[in-house]
Amino acid sequence: MRLILLGPPGAGKGTQCKRIIEKYQAAHLSSGDILRAERAAGSELGQKAQSYMDSGGLVPDDLIIDMMIKAVKQAPSGYVLDGFPRTVPQAEGLDQALNRAGEKIDAIVELQVPDSAILSRMTGRRSCPKCGQVYHVENLKPKVEGQCDNSCGPLVQRKDDTPDVVEHRLKTYHEQTAAVVGYYKDKYPILTINADQPIDAVTADVFAGLESLAR
Ligand code: ADP
Ligand code: ADP
Repeated sequence: MRLILLGPPGAGKGTQCKRIIEKYQAAHLSSGDILRAERAAGSELGQKAQSYMDSGGLVPDDLIIDMMIKAVKQAPSGYVLDGFPRTVPQAEGLDQALNRAGEKIDAIVELQVPDSAILSRMTGRRSCPKCGQVYHVENLKPKVEGQCDNSCGPLVQRKDDTPDVVEHRLKTYHEQTAAVVGYYKDKYPILTINADQPIDAVTADVFAGLESLAR
């Protein structure tokens, strides 16, 4: 199974991806998670990406395309792309690599959420720096406040989840990423999901949509 999850920051891409990969046994390829790991490792790519990420802008396409094509090649039995592609040139770069490999994407899952629902999701997001599990202070609480359920230790708040940076990321999404859905319109099946519902209801709609595509 090869899927692309699209949607604004805070739409629930990471949350839903974790559930999809569990059910369909695919790799979760999150460009944001890979970039954060590069930063934590102090790599050249991580250093180059830092200022763009902290301000809520996009890391340049050439860096991202190379990074994600490498990740895709390491997941031959299937993957769910989360946070990539975020621009039309990135989508074109992915298509070229897929064509070369004789592969195609099974479906695009678009999570739709109004801007008005995003800010509280982002400022309430907490994540585990060790295992990547994502929580929310109200919508998805860990069993013990501030601690990862997988016994990894304390949860952290991402530096780019502050109101100012979230506002910039939403602007970036509308200016550069929203067009990616249009790019895929006649290329692959698109599942449009109302992601402005409780997390389990979104998952149920995603699974129902994927099953109806498979039939
Ligand atoms: P994205 O990967 O699209 O940025 P996340 O999956 O990290 O989004 O979710 C952002 C925050 O919103 C997290 O704290 C998550 O727990 C919470 N969240 C995700 N989906 C929902 C939902 N359907 N309703 C309410 N909160 C949600
Ligand atoms: P979100 O919660 O908004 O989905 P991510 O974790 O996907 O956030 O991304 C965090 C930051 O990493 C983005 O604001 C951006 O600076 C950078 N980034 C992630 N994916 C890409 C991409 N495909 N192209 C350019 N920049 C990216």
